[in-house]
Amino acid sequence: MGPSNFESIRNSLVPSKVEVFVWRARKRRIAVLAELDKRGVDLHSVLCPICNQDVETVDHSLVLCSLAFDIWEQVFKWWGLGNFSNLSIGEIFLGNLSIHITDLGKKIWQEVEWTCGYLIWKNHNHKVSRTSIGMRQLL
Ligand SMILES: [Zn+2]
Repeated sequence: MGPSNFESIRNSLVPSKVEVFVWRARKRRIAVLAELDKRGVDLHSVLCPICNQDVETVDHSLVLCSLAFDIWEQVFKWWGLGNFSNLSIGEIFLGNLSIHITDLGKKIWQEVEWTCGYLIWKNHNHKVSRTSIGMRQLL
């Protein structure tokens, strides 16, 4: 996913910090344990500290972890999209699910998805209070 692709998925409705987060999440450049481990950070465990059930990958923390999953299910219900199935975060952030609505509607739906992803990440990080781990290594 190069910079040119990032340009093509910009959304003027969201603050730039959300756009940057989406770009980083799509490039696997957010400080989940699986990515820190790949980059040589010494960790006791790569299991998700919230559920302790799976490796903390980008998709786990943003989609599959129970807390995130419940939020996406509610958002999909709210938008009349029925049951939320296991989409990857990349698929979710594309925001091009087959909803037959106007272009503006699609842009708003993408805004909702991006903002939800951002807030899920903020919440996840808040819960694990990951201040000691080198986030800079992912920049
Ligand atoms: Zn989890």
